[in-house]
Amino acid sequence: MKKEVNWVKTHCARMDHGGCALLVGVHENRVVAVKGDPDGYLSRGYVCPKGLAAPERLASSKRLQHPLKRAGERGSGRWRQIGWDEALAEISDRLAETRERHGARSVAFCQGMPKGLEHFALIRLANLFGSPNVVAVQDVCHAPREISGLHTCGFYPVVDWHHPNELIVLWGSNPAATNEEGQICSLLRSQIERGSEIVVVDPRRTELASRARHWLQVRPGADAALALAMLNVIISESLYDADFVKRWTHGFDRLARLVAAYPPEKMAEVTWVAPELIRSAARTYAGAKPAAIAWGNAIEQTVHNFDAARSLIDLMAICGNLDVPGGNIQANEPPQQRLGQFVRADRLPDKPKEMIHAHQGCIPRLMTVPPVYFRRAVLESDPYPVRAAYVQCANPVLAYADSKQTARALEKLDFLAVADIFMTPSAALADIVLPAATHLEFDDIGHYGLGHGILLARPGAVSPPGQCRPDIEIINELGKRLTAACDWFEDYHEMLDGVLAPAGLDFEAFCRRGYLRGEEKFRKYEAGGFKTPSGKVELCLSKADSLGLPQLPEFKGPPDPASPDFPLVLTSCKNPYFLHSSYRWLEKLRRHSPQPQAVVHPQTADACGITDGEEMIIETCHGRISQTARLDASIHPDVVLAAYGWWFPEMPETDAHRWQQANFNCLTSAQRVGAQFGTPNLKGINCRIRRA
Ligand code: SF4
Repeated sequence: MKKEVNWVKTHCARMDHGGCALLVGVHENRVVAVKGDPDGYLSRGYVCPKGLAAPERLASSKRLQHPLKRAGERGSGRWRQIGWDEALAEISDRLAETRERHGARSVAFCQGMPKGLEHFALIRLANLFGSPNVVAVQDVCHAPREISGLHTCGFYPVVDWHHPNELIVLWGSNPAATNEEGQICSLLRSQIERGSEIVVVDPRRTELASRARHWLQVRPGADAALALAMLNVIISESLYDADFVKRWTHGFDRLARLVAAYPPEKMAEVTWVAPELIRSAARTYAGAKPAAIAWGNAIEQTVHNFDAARSLIDLMAICGNLDVPGGNIQANEPPQQRLGQFVRADRLPDKPKEMIHAHQGCIPRLMTVPPVYFRRAVLESDPYPVRAAYVQCANPVLAYADSKQTARALEKLDFLAVADIFMTPSAALADIVLPAATHLEFDDIGHYGLGHGILLARPGAVSPPGQCRPDIEIINELGKRLTAACDWFEDYHEMLDGVLAPAGLDFEAFCRRGYLRGEEKFRKYEAGGFKTPSGKVELCLSKADSLGLPQLPEFKGPPDPASPDFPLVLTSCKNPYFLHSSYRWLEKLRRHSPQPQAVVHPQTADACGITDGEEMIIETCHGRISQTARLDASIHPDVVLAAYGWWFPEMPETDAHRWQQANFNCLTSAQRVGAQFGTPNLKGINCRIRRA
């Protein structure tokens, strides 16, 4: 008999920020098929291998399905199944007790990459609980671009993919392999088919680099030097938008004097990009109207990320590409509940003064705690002790720089609760583990708070297995137990309806629409100036001293000062089959990438006696891992591109899933961090390799 399949229109999520519109086939509460929805506003029918693996992920026998309570030493793998009531009671009792004895700020709430409303629900819980400490990985993702944008031009400049771009510069971003902030590559590909040219700035010759007009094979971590050299060319050759600069920028003369010290010939030595190529790329960018810079995480993952982000915004600004169709725009959001209202920011007005990193001189408006300072608070009580943590959608042991220190910090906590969909090396250290539902199993709203001017409907298609519950439902229940119940919702659907109320929709009506987008408006500064102290783009920050920030960007040298013992430069990139440390347990994805592979130039490998497919040791002065060598001439001979996020879910929990064997963050350190965002170096680290 033919199976009756009901098709549900929704959007992908949890495999990354989400964004692809999906048609999900359901039979008897099981997802049996997934395909791209050609009506998708961002994706236009595209689905990546991760999205297609949703049925396996939902039905995986390895999923957590019951709340667990630790029944042995941390990491012993001994657990006792408990009911939700006991789990929620234990978590709320332990967090309330910690607050009672040590103050609310001794409890941290940790989030990995936000997938939906759960991130903001967690901030709401922290605010109502009284803790200023929401720990997030924004130091290496999003905050350096967004907050540098807020200080420089008053907004977060994102690419306008919906109007013709004459030129797109992919700077440290490879959207063909990863879904950068939910901006699916379909839109980029349509632009290329329509005639857009591309320039790629990447140490690897990616698929897009081989189609680019210019490929700048930059030294990892030298982005600011390259951008300043391009500014040098554009200003010295008067290629900038003189009218925009005159009317709408502050500090152009100062910037011009500064970049005179960054000629392409000099910067070629540090960027490894030939001076003529720097000149050509600068001229191409300045001559294209409009041109957009798609800037990725790579520019954010060094101690010099503020300089890199500021230099790139300066390029966008002086070439007249800010907030113009097809340029880098301030996305207009559709009507929705304001974030501040959703998270109840009013309940914790002193949060900026109370956060763990309040006295570290970080950039104003950074509202989550950089992981390095969280860990210091746990291990060294600096500036005060943190004793308990609630973690969701995160695997800090793998994701934070210096994994061994992170594991020590989690082990030291008096109490740790983790909500996740599978057991991870971080969850293995918890006192209580909660089984989370995953996307397609509950109703959610996508792209809220991402700054791209859209909201996506993500109705659930099936109910979760076993006792799994959505993170937003768990937070809602914990909120009622830990804070005044009247600040929470009868049911988490009320939370969704609240977000949509300003649009005059409830969740059901929103799902019928599929998505909401903001009104198209450009050059908004013409009506009231830029939202900066001077009302202009602040090439030179007018209030730098009072903000404790440098006035102008500069290149301070490679992120990791040269060391003769470690002659190569280490970097990493994301794997299109996984999300950070997730999904290595799914056979359908793992078979494409069964082992961690590090890419090395054949010449370099030969010099070290390493052959293709052989196990090799990668060492930095902080640690050592082993990965399989993949010889590839598309990488610079002085660069090693290691795989990131590796552990082995197939290995026993008592063996910590062998996370120390190949995990990239065993090579990184958090001893030195950037002043503005507390970011450690994840790129541009000195390293060496040898045969295993
Ligand atoms: S690109 Fe992201 S949103 Fe699209 S199908 Fe893949 S995981 Fe899902």
